[in-house]
Amino acid sequence: MPMETSAFKNAMKQFDAAARFMNLTEDQIVMIKEPRRVTVVKLPVRMDDGRIEMFKGYRVQHNVARGPAKGGIRFHPDVTVDEVKALAFWMTYKCAVVNIPMGGGKGGVVVEPSLLSPGELERLARRYFAELMDVFGPDRDVPAPDINTNPQIMAWMMDTYAMHHKDFVPAVITGKPLELGGSLGRMSATAQGMVFCVREAAEKLNIDLKTASVALQGFGNAGSFAVKLLREDGCKIVAISDISGGYYNRGQGISVNEAIDYVREHKSLKNFDKHTDVKKYKDPMQLLEEEVDILIPATLENQITEDNAERVRPRVIAECANGPCTVEADAILEKNNVFIIPDILCNAGGVTVSYLEWVQNRMGYYWEADRVQQDLHRIMVKAFEDVYQTSLRHKVNMRIAAFIIGIERVTRAAEMRGLYT
Ligand code: GLU
Repeated sequence: MPMETSAFKNAMKQFDAAARFMNLTEDQIVMIKEPRRVTVVKLPVRMDDGRIEMFKGYRVQHNVARGPAKGGIRFHPDVTVDEVKALAFWMTYKCAVVNIPMGGGKGGVVVEPSLLSPGELERLARRYFAELMDVFGPDRDVPAPDINTNPQIMAWMMDTYAMHHKDFVPAVITGKPLELGGSLGRMSATAQGMVFCVREAAEKLNIDLKTASVALQGFGNAGSFAVKLLREDGCKIVAISDISGGYYNRGQGISVNEAIDYVREHKSLKNFDKHTDVKKYKDPMQLLEEEVDILIPATLENQITEDNAERVRPRVIAECANGPCTVEADAILEKNNVFIIPDILCNAGGVTVSYLEWVQNRMGYYWEADRVQQDLHRIMVKAFEDVYQTSLRHKVNMRIAAFIIGIERVTRAAEMRGLYT
């Protein structure tokens, strides 16, 4: 199954694929390719039944040449150091592609958070932050939400830092609740940024979004909000999925609002097919092979590999997830004329508004939603156009083009800084 491919190996192959089009020296490559710091922590947590359970956590700082490390914290049972290294690598180049002054980092805790009580979850979140107190800092490493983490968890982490430092330091973490220095527009930022990219791609490829069909793998925060926005643009959402399975309705499409309400009430899409006019796939991976204009992978890494890529034939893949396609899959998709909006561009809206949140925290002045939305739009459209033009200039696909831009920017920063000793 998908998790077999190493996410980090795939990330390294992506780097090499882009580096082939650049004349990088060995010195340049060693400075920017591999993560700089990998911290592993053990996290003892007092469970509600009185026992101590030991969890494992990671924080990886991939590169900080362009600014403090930036990237979310994932709570998931399948988290591995390999995965967190890959995710931190993608953050470096994601921040560089949208040209925000941040480096790349990522964190993870090996846990199935749905099995914890709210109290256990809070103690785990606080212990994670406390163990990594010296790693994080508003000018050092600024985490944020990722899969299974949310504004409440960010608030507990910020509070842990504030209690320790005896200061209110909201800029130490982003994705906070609005009451604690969060930014308007952060919750919808990943989806919104993605939709800006999809609109740009649709224009380039002459796809009319009013008649376009969409399949979404994963119905989390970013994915569900993205299809809601695309529905408002006129798209028909023919398939969605989550951990409980994949559901489709090719004729009428799926009502996104109904699905969102259903998940709010039932916690997942389980039995969605029994209550509504949708059918369930035998194997949820079939969703990826649905004949649609736009496919949105919005779950974990390595979903489209050489095993299924030949059968994955949308016109556009909008990568909401990080690392959903392997390098081998990319080659097959390119041959079949599938246009990929790569993760480090497509889902960069989240970290972009995180940066805007960090800026507002440092000013102590908070913007209206319109201001945030305008900045996000300007940054995403510029990044899309930069990547698109680079892909035309070098005659490469959008992923390689995005990495060419990112690698150039990180390399320049690293060289201008030089070596400390
Ligand atoms: N976890 C998100 C990502 O993968 C957001 C990171 C952030 O806001 O720092 O891009």
